[in-house]
Amino acid sequence: MIKLSQIKIPLERIFGTVPEDLIKKGIIGDQEECLVREAVAKQLHISEDMIREMSILRRSMDARRKHRMQYIYQVVFRTEKEEKIIKRYGKNDAVLLKGHTQEDHQEKISPMQRKKENKPVIVGMGPAGLFAALELAEKGLEPVIFERGCCISKRREKVSAFWDTGELDENCNVQFGEGGAGTFSDGKLNTLVKDPTGRGRKVLKTFVEYGAPSEILYLHKPHIGTDLLGDVVRNIRNRIIELGGEVRFETTFEKAVWKNGKLTEIVFSHNGQSQRMPCDTLILATGHSARDTVTDLYQSGLYMEAKPFAVGVRVQHPQEMISRNQYGDVYDMLPAADYKLTYNTVDKRGVYSFCMCPGGYVVNASSEKGRLAVNGMSDHARNGRNANSAIVVTVTPEDFGGKDALAGIAFQRKWEEAAFREGKGEIPVQLFGDFCKNRTSTGLGAVQPSIKGQYTLANVRKVIPEFAGNSIQEGIMYFERRIPGFAREDAIMAGIESRTSSPVRICRDDSLQANIKGIYPCGEGAGYAGGITSAAMDGIRVAQMIITNIESES
Ligand SMILES: Cc1cc2nc3c(=O)[nH]c(=O)nc-3n(C[C@H](O)[C@H](O)[C@H](O)COP(=O)(O)OP(=O)(O)OC[C@H]3O[C@@H](n4cnc5c(N)ncnc54)[C@H](O)[C@@H]3O)c2cc1C
Repeated sequence: MIKLSQIKIPLERIFGTVPEDLIKKGIIGDQEECLVREAVAKQLHISEDMIREMSILRRSMDARRKHRMQYIYQVVFRTEKEEKIIKRYGKNDAVLLKGHTQEDHQEKISPMQRKKENKPVIVGMGPAGLFAALELAEKGLEPVIFERGCCISKRREKVSAFWDTGELDENCNVQFGEGGAGTFSDGKLNTLVKDPTGRGRKVLKTFVEYGAPSEILYLHKPHIGTDLLGDVVRNIRNRIIELGGEVRFETTFEKAVWKNGKLTEIVFSHNGQSQRMPCDTLILATGHSARDTVTDLYQSGLYMEAKPFAVGVRVQHPQEMISRNQYGDVYDMLPAADYKLTYNTVDKRGVYSFCMCPGGYVVNASSEKGRLAVNGMSDHARNGRNANSAIVVTVTPEDFGGKDALAGIAFQRKWEEAAFREGKGEIPVQLFGDFCKNRTSTGLGAVQPSIKGQYTLANVRKVIPEFAGNSIQEGIMYFERRIPGFAREDAIMAGIESRTSSPVRICRDDSLQANIKGIYPCGEGAGYAGGITSAAMDGIRVAQMIITNIESES
């Protein structure tokens, strides 16, 4: 099989051939596939009918020169005399893939006889817990999942009610519940984590197998969107149950009990009733917002350390302004554009855009009463009027005072309380012009907010540390050079964005176990992932380690 990269097709060719709706949705249809096949044949000087079993692995947009924008593809395909063609072509963007590719390697999973007395327990049904559970269930290990929040349908109701009324359920909200933190999100699946084992590709294929749109398999920056992600998660959950797994919603893990450094039992509660269960294998995939659980575990002796994260504010601009800047005059024929911006301030602080949501919404993503945090989401179509992203600044243990492992949580809580106060329980919103003058906004400009949750005009500068306010102002002024209009006076700021990643790392060794044997810290909350795909990859990794341990014991 040949893998060929750097296949370039000018956008005007695509416009001339592919139906507008497919281009707008970013979906590759037959017409575009024909163009790619034609380009492959031309690039390798072979005839098109020699190309068999072609599949497009990746498509990205090169929009650096507006007058010459192009899509760039990577494909795999079969043909005759592959070695001769590669040799004749002589460039390194064509490689021979010996034997099978990652694509067609269907891992034949042979279920194990569950020898162990106790079933493995997984705490948390975010991407880490969900993919760990699927991996263990496919191996016949019948995992039990505890999720403090509700199932997706009930969770959707609770979250909409919270956004409409401000009434928060501290166990079922944007952070907690079936699917985890990312369920109400843009569902961006790109990750910077290297993927030598193919776990990242497996995550994407699993999402497609359970209902996600197939274009996530080839888009450079794949995303699912809030409207589709919940259903995909439910389908995976049903498969886990089909394979003998068990899911307990509205069930909160409380304590781990151990003897001689080995886990023996866990304590959990449901409907206010505490219960105990023998347990010798526990995956802790609780996410970056399970502050109560992490505090209890730390105080009972689980080794942890403070970890850097980032804080900032969300900024909104008209999506049209962003797309026109990124794609020029043809912007409205293409999917909503995104951006990634970074800058180092004069005093050496990194300022960058985080979790950008094209055509999306700013959301109230709080999970504790009296504390307010925001985040962003988009539906699959990304057809909202505004683009938004968090403009954040890295904070380190030095910034949040002291080396105590939980100092970062205290820091987040302090500023989330400031946000709650400043907004009087609603999302504090401010125009960038007023942000620069550190004064409360009294009215909106041309940009109309796209926000899920109640909001009020306020002074967002007051809900973040001074160094962050200064750095963000300086950064946005710099980003104006990259995207004219980015620093417009009526750009809308909202805060605080504090849940960018976990402020704590739960220590684990090479066997992926904590200082208590049998406990496997996993995913974002444990400090080993950042984002949906990398959390899911870590879930698979931990499950595979448990399977290897069980196989080696038997
Ligand atoms: C609004 C929003 C938008 C986001 N957008 C994106 C995006 O577009 N792309 C992206 O890659 N990432 C995004 N993220 C980040 C992404 O969601 C997380 O990185 C990812 O979900 C982490 O996965 P996880 O499984 O480690 O933890 P989580 O997804 O946080 O899951 C942890 C689960 O554990 C449960 N839990 C916690 N404590 C207990 C307990 N004691 N007992 C039982 N259950 C418990 C929680 O209820 C939760 O469901 C977004 C996050 C938010 C909040």
